[in-house]
Amino acid sequence: MNTPARVLVGGLVTALPVLFVLAVLVLGGWLAPVPALVAAAVVYAGITLLLAPLIGGVAGVRGALDRMAANEPAPEVQSLSPSVRDLWLALGRWARSVRAEIRARDSALESARSVLATLPEPLLLLDAARRVVRANTAATALFGERIEGRDLAGVLRHPAVLTATDQVLKGETTRTVEFELTSPVERHLRAVVARLTPEAEGAAAVLVLHDLTELKRAERLRADFVANASHELRTPLATLVGFIETLRGPAREDTSARDRFLGIMAEQAARMTRLVEDLLSLSRIEMNEHRAPTEAVRIENALRQAADPLEPRAKARGMRFVFDVAPDLPPVAGDLDELVQVFQNLFDNALKYGDQGTAIEIVARPSSRALSGARPGERGGVAIAVRDHGAGIAHEHIPRLTERFYRVDAARSRALGGTGLGLAIVKHIVSHHRGAFEIDSELGQGSVFTVHLPVAASQKITAGTVA
Ligand code: ADP
Repeated sequence: MNTPARVLVGGLVTALPVLFVLAVLVLGGWLAPVPALVAAAVVYAGITLLLAPLIGGVAGVRGALDRMAANEPAPEVQSLSPSVRDLWLALGRWARSVRAEIRARDSALESARSVLATLPEPLLLLDAARRVVRANTAATALFGERIEGRDLAGVLRHPAVLTATDQVLKGETTRTVEFELTSPVERHLRAVVARLTPEAEGAAAVLVLHDLTELKRAERLRADFVANASHELRTPLATLVGFIETLRGPAREDTSARDRFLGIMAEQAARMTRLVEDLLSLSRIEMNEHRAPTEAVRIENALRQAADPLEPRAKARGMRFVFDVAPDLPPVAGDLDELVQVFQNLFDNALKYGDQGTAIEIVARPSSRALSGARPGERGGVAIAVRDHGAGIAHEHIPRLTERFYRVDAARSRALGGTGLGLAIVKHIVSHHRGAFEIDSELGQGSVFTVHLPVAASQKITAGTVA
């Protein structure tokens, strides 16, 4: 209905009670029909004239609201009739407050979304039909970009996770399952599925994954380590027990056998002592690993103190230490005792695995390698390379040499008095010093073990570390 028709009909409806009264008066004979008709016409005309601006104004406001809903500009207040101006202004105030509330909710929603997006754990929001409604960045990195809208079964094909999710969607509050993924890489994960009440953005449940791979690996390493250490100790211990029984029984009166057995027992006891000392060193270094040493140590001191006690063994094998230390090397930031242990382990290996009659060459030079322990704006420090001329090491073994108890040839290492912990200790001490450790080797040529250490922050040399 257009506006004039509305005005005419509205006037008629409003005038109805008066017209009714006039009709009753005429029918009762109290009023003559002609004056009654005149009165009815005047009343109708008057009401219509009064209603016209009101109905016109309301129609104008409705038109303006329609235009605004269609994103067209709102009319100026002056262009509206005075009868609806106040209504229009009140509507404007209400609209502004609704808009402010929507903006506040939008920004709360945005920040909730960005918190979800930046969570380091993969997170999926699922609807009641188990479809992915939303996935954060960590989840898309794990499962791929196009997972929104897909059933969870097509994203994470693990029966235990799907069962747990179904149970939550059927009414359980929360379920936790641990499971393994084998592709693209092997991972150990824990999934926590929880119900969302009330539902949020069409999501009925949230699924969060925690990566337990590192934790499980560390647990396995620890268990392996304890098993290896016990095994290493059990062997000499069993030998000792065996010889004690023999000496108490059959060999009780056999002097020559007793001397031989005691020699072997002393050797086994020494092996156990070395093992226990190495284990203690490792745990001591691990405990201190978070605090980098700050003493200024002259590298030639550490090298000398490591080589001196080994000179007799070198002589016995016709071998010699040959030092080539660049003059004016800056002192390194370190712990003298630990650095002596690093070089003692490397020299000891060179003596064990180097060929008889060869030289063990030690070269110390400034290093250009970027080290985490270097001072800001300063690159590298000092590099010390220990080269032997022996059988060398096959390439496939090199990355694993610093693992505890890893040996290329376990029988040979044991026969030479090795514990399998020497290079693990070296690696830990070097990382305690925020340095770097490299191994190079060629079969039949020999090996080079290089230690990079950051230079000391202060050039002041502490007592006991100066040559
Ligand atoms: P070990 O006590 O057995 O020497 P390490 O941790 O010092 O233990 O060394 C681990 C393994 O690395 C050794 O068993 C040996 O197989 C190999 N290795 C270490 N140093 C050398 C070297 N200079 N030449 C050849 N092989 C080496």
